Amino acid sequence: MRKPLLDAVKERILLCDGAMGTMLQKAGLPAGACGEAWNVDKPEAVKAIQGEYADAGADCIITNTFGGSSYRLALHGEQGRVHEMNCAAARLAREVMGEERYVLGDIGPFGDFLEPVGETDPEDLQQAFFVQARALAEGGADAIIIETMAALDEIECAVKGAQQACKLPIIVSLTYDRIPDGSYRTMMGVSPEQAAKEMSDLGVDVIGSNCGTGIDITDHARIAQLYKDAGAKLVIVQPNAGSPRMEGGRVVYDETPELMASNVERLIEAGACIIGGCCGTTPRHIALFRAAIDGAHGRQ
Ligand SMILES: [Zn+2]
Repeated sequence: MRKPLLDAVKERILLCDGAMGTMLQKAGLPAGACGEAWNVDKPEAVKAIQGEYADAGADCIITNTFGGSSYRLALHGEQGRVHEMNCAAARLAREVMGEERYVLGDIGPFGDFLEPVGETDPEDLQQAFFVQARALAEGGADAIIIETMAALDEIECAVKGAQQACKLPIIVSLTYDRIPDGSYRTMMGVSPEQAAKEMSDLGVDVIGSNCGTGIDITDHARIAQLYKDAGAKLVIVQPNAGSPRMEGGRVVYDETPELMASNVERLIEAGACIIGGCCGTTPRHIALFRAAIDGAHGRQ
């Protein structure tokens, strides 16, 4: 039986899975269709993808619920199925991972701006995240991961909604770009130092960086170091396989599993305690990350 996640990360580095969206499309999900519906309608397809990551040696699987809030499901007319799809997603991931490994319940951005920039009321948004987090917890998640975030007001809604829904550990991962002076900011102008302070104030357990444009795995290592320097204790890092580019009408990512795995040690040196992959990473990337992490553990 697994230890609580926050105990396990103090003993060893945990490996997370890689990209989900691109894998679903490879499995036949049409571009723009609702991937979360597959948790209910095509569970075997979701389990097959997650099984590849489990076979690659992942310690943690992130549920297929990135767009599982009512706001995102409403784009597909599926806003009435938040509980069903999120609960099913956590159960599927648990079936894949068993009782020894971890399921992280995924919450992604709601896709718009809060008042006064946009028209969404923060209380409504917090309620939506509450409903999503409650379903993920009910389905058996070990933690809630709020990821690809850029705006502090949205993060606050998600964290408070999750805290209201369950007692699970909360992970928040932000997405940065490198700006011309060489430092890092989210799309909404948040720096890693500022994020570390705000996450500590909100009672977030693990802070991270994932995805991003114009940044690679070595930038993620620098961001992890900035988090640590700002007092963060537990850090998760999930880099993309490089920046996406179009080739023959398809999105491709250039960073090979070998190239990325050769830089995993930088993430470890910077103090990351959970390492995985974001867009463009594959089971092969995760398998080589496994070898890199095990190699680093062996040298300790
Ligand atoms: Zn990504």
